[in-house]
Amino acid sequence: MLKLRKRSSRTHTFHMTAQIIDGKALAAEVRAEVAQRTATLKASGITPGLAVILVGDNPASQVYVRNKVKACTDCGMHSVLEQYDASMSEEDLLARVQSLNADPSIHGILVQLPLPAHINAQKVIEAISPAKDVDGFHVASAGALMTGLPGFLPCTPYGCMKMLEHINYPLKGKHAVVIGRSNIVGKPMAMMLLAQDATVTICHSRTPDLKAHTLQADVIVAAVGRRNLVTADMVKPGAAVLDVGMNRNDAGKLCGDVDFEGVKEVAGYITPVPGGVGPMTIAMLLANTLQAATNR
Ligand code: NAP
Repeated sequence: MLKLRKRSSRTHTFHMTAQIIDGKALAAEVRAEVAQRTATLKASGITPGLAVILVGDNPASQVYVRNKVKACTDCGMHSVLEQYDASMSEEDLLARVQSLNADPSIHGILVQLPLPAHINAQKVIEAISPAKDVDGFHVASAGALMTGLPGFLPCTPYGCMKMLEHINYPLKGKHAVVIGRSNIVGKPMAMMLLAQDATVTICHSRTPDLKAHTLQADVIVAAVGRRNLVTADMVKPGAAVLDVGMNRNDAGKLCGDVDFEGVKEVAGYITPVPGGVGPMTIAMLLANTLQAATNR
């Protein structure tokens, strides 16, 4: 009979919890820098201006647009919020966009999504002048990102990249797994990681074995909108985990796609929700608006 030798010495596992990337603090730094550069630009006679259009009365959208407009004015920019009834016609909305395209006091135009079902959102986005496309959703901006040309980067993945830059994360040669393939988060995120020489895998709802992919990842970006999608057993020890998701838990509290409590025991870096990617998104919108004004 084979006798198994008992291990006499105890094995020690040295365990450290993840470093939390404080999106709120980093966003404040970005906003302070934007404010300073806005002041300089204003001294030369240009006040960066952002126009935000909201159609309908989606309560979440109302909070977002108010936050965006307030963030603009807080850092010294000019900002206008145009609110319209849900019954606004596509034609009228397109006409508003055209008139903002021609308005020299406006450098950035943002149409809050989602739009009412009778309006073709992509058509409206394509009506925005690419020079004022501070959300980075125009096909010209997407094409520029794809081909490595300068253009506006979508704010959420741009904010994620800022967070990785902040921790000096060496992306070159690393394996990044992006979960989600939307035009506003997943796809541009993958392109930005690729541009920094990461090897990128994009997972989505038809990916059969998500865990098999995430376990290989040095960087995980979760952008799905499903609570507890990423759990500790799916994460390689030391990985950087960025949580873009915005969900509510049973108590109605904001939470991400990542099981924060579990994953922070395994990951090397993790972003919290709230206080992670969310504040960075607004900060990068300000950075893009400043950029648009500077480009003029
Ligand atoms: P979206 O357009 O609904 O896209 C979700 C993506 O997740 C889709 O590509 C979908 O795959 C994929 N997916 C769905 N179930 C999945 C599963 N079980 N496993 C793997 N992938 C799955 O959403 P989004 O606009 O990209 O936003 C994603 C999340 O980020 C949402 O929670 C949103 O609220 C949040 N968000 C946060 C910010 C911020 O500032 N913090 C900004 C934008 C969005 P298919 O393509 O196959 O359907």
